[in-house]
Order: sequence, then C-alpha cells, then structure tokens
Amino acid sequence: MSSSSSNEETCIVCAKATAGNSGTAYLYHEGRRFALCCPMCVEMFQRAPTRFAGGERRETLVEQLLAEMKWKTPGQW
Ligand SMILES: [Zn+2]
Repeated sequence: MSSSSSNEETCIVCAKATAGNSGTAYLYHEGRRFALCCPMCVEMFQRAPTRFAGGERRETLVEQLLAEMKWKTPGQW
C-alpha cells in the first residue's frame, strides 16, 4: 500500500509536478480537469486542448506549438 501519492499531479504540458506550486491553474476540457503549472503552459494548452486531452505525445506537441509561437511572436528581428 502506498500512502504518499494521493495528491500528486503533473502539468499536462511540461510534466512538472504541480503540487505546492502557487502558479498552478486548472482548466477543464470535455469534463476532465487538467493542471497547468504556469501561464506559458496554460497558453500552450489553450492552443491545442483537444490534442493534449487526446493523449498525443507531449514532447512532439510542445515542440510543434513552440515552433508556431516563435513564428508568430514578433519579439526578435
Ligand atoms: Zn507546465
């Protein structure tokens, strides 16, 4: 019997543990709750909630979304 992992959650985007993280946000998608550790991850999740919820490989998804965000962010010229 394990008693330690009852409340362990990880960020759906970056897989960081969200327990004790004050910046953690929770979003609901199709009746399921997803934990996001920071505004960056929230934004990422909101770009493709169905894909994250659908269990696509996290690393691939994040890479694609990051590439899109770089493309659209007019930060560096
Ligand atoms: Zn995160």
